[in-house]
Amino acid sequence: MKKSPAQAPAAQIRLSAYPPAPARIDLQSRPLPGRLALALLVLGACWAPIPWLAALRPRYPWAAIALCLGVYLAQRVWTGRYRVRSFLGVCPRCGRHLRIDAGTAIDLPHTLTCAGCHFEPRLEVDFRLAAARTAPAAGTTVRHLEGECAGSWHEHWHQDEPYLECAACGARHFATPQLRRAAAAENARGDLLARLADEGRFLE
Ligand SMILES: [Zn+2]
Ligand SMILES: [Zn+2]
Repeated sequence: MKKSPAQAPAAQIRLSAYPPAPARIDLQSRPLPGRLALALLVLGACWAPIPWLAALRPRYPWAAIALCLGVYLAQRVWTGRYRVRSFLGVCPRCGRHLRIDAGTAIDLPHTLTCAGCHFEPRLEVDFRLAAARTAPAAGTTVRHLEGECAGSWHEHWHQDEPYLECAACGARHFATPQLRRAAAAENARGDLLARLADEGRFLE
């Protein structure tokens, strides 16, 4: 069985009014198709016997239980974009160790409850460091979808990963440090051209 790549990004635990505490987390991503297939399978398994259960006496409880159980279990296998392999972190307020059991499926940011002070710090993960390490050696220039495009580049996040996107043509690149510099240089050039064009207009 092919496993999705493990991700060991920079993580920290935040609680407002306290300095963030660093954390170590090892995550395995749970791709959408797999989660969807599993959720449908669970729904199918729980709902398939409903016609037969509905014919039993007393009639309704069994069918209703199967219906609710299906929804409950499908929702459980569906939620959580990441599976935690290991986690090490402390509460920013009281310094007590926080727990996330290995195998737990979570979304990010993930809210934890401290067993010591009962505050609820948030686990935040920065995938940029991991992304920079694992990103394929892409080109060092940013390219537009249309050759003549003069749109400027903006950085934004998509599925927890940074991208550079052109506001005009929608071209998108994975934001590596090199491409960030290339995009900034191109934006600066674009500004300069626009300024020169403006000045030209004044001269006419
Ligand atoms: Zn605490
Ligand atoms: Zn463009």
